[in-house]
Amino acid sequence: MAENLSVKHLLGIKHLTLDDIQLIFKTADHFKEVINRPIKKIPSLRDITIVNLFFENSTRTRISFELAERRLSADIINFSASQSSVSKGETLIDTVKNILAMKVDMVVMRHPNPGAAVFLSKHINASIVNAGDGAHEHPTQALLDAYTIREKYGDVKGKKIAIIGDVLHSRVALSNIFCLNKLGAEVTVCGPATLIPQYIQELGVKVNHNLKETLNWCDVAMLLRIQLERQGVNFIPSLREYAMTFGVNLDTLNKIERPITIMHPGPINRGVELSSDAADSKHSLILTQVENGVAIRMAIIYLLAGNITISNFS
Ligand code: ASP
Repeated sequence: MAENLSVKHLLGIKHLTLDDIQLIFKTADHFKEVINRPIKKIPSLRDITIVNLFFENSTRTRISFELAERRLSADIINFSASQSSVSKGETLIDTVKNILAMKVDMVVMRHPNPGAAVFLSKHINASIVNAGDGAHEHPTQALLDAYTIREKYGDVKGKKIAIIGDVLHSRVALSNIFCLNKLGAEVTVCGPATLIPQYIQELGVKVNHNLKETLNWCDVAMLLRIQLERQGVNFIPSLREYAMTFGVNLDTLNKIERPITIMHPGPINRGVELSSDAADSKHSLILTQVENGVAIRMAIIYLLAGNITISNFS
């Protein structure tokens, strides 16, 4: 297995090789052990400075990145668009160039526009980690999801994964489709026709609009939130109707003949895509996903920082 990533940035799963993904998982195995020690901090990135640029709200992803960076002893700067000169009309490139002039090595960025991370990577020298760009990609989420499946089942290859809900507006769905396909899983997307993009089969997935059939087929069901903030028009008649047709509760899960696992990237809309009794049941891996998120983000930052050091000195 390669010892370095083939990329300088983590812009999307699309750009990673299978070897990159396996290397991230192997490195995360080590960091998962580290974060379960009484002393969770290691000095690996003492000479690296990272800025977390969040142009869009986030709870889990932001805290997870910050913890990962602190566990690796990096110096960090947090930036949130609402408290910055962006609200005074400054451009993205100007904001980032000014921050980088203060000698920052890595930028973790969440942005509402698809392609923002790729755009930035063409204009600046620092390493960029895409922490979610609009409805495009959310690569660290897909990596932590696949890592959680690998941990539960030993391997992702051959597993049947259903992605259920608002696939149309979901960056988690797209990154997961790329990641699970690369790892050899079988993927089916499920939801109302209005929330499943046309031609999605061309990405190598199956489509099934029947929730019961899909749940009876899969090993893992990934539930997605209805992305109300990204919907200009109504794609579903009401949340209540969505919950009745595509919502998963404990009763639904108990009626499936084989045991299945449920996952959710958060935040959960309890009572819409997932009921509380299902979210908090033995079927749920949701909090394991959150725990694994820190190890996966440590692995990505550590490996990208290795590439920065190599390119600076070679
Ligand atoms: N937390 C995930 C994201 O940032 C999923 C969601 O918001 O529904 O895309």
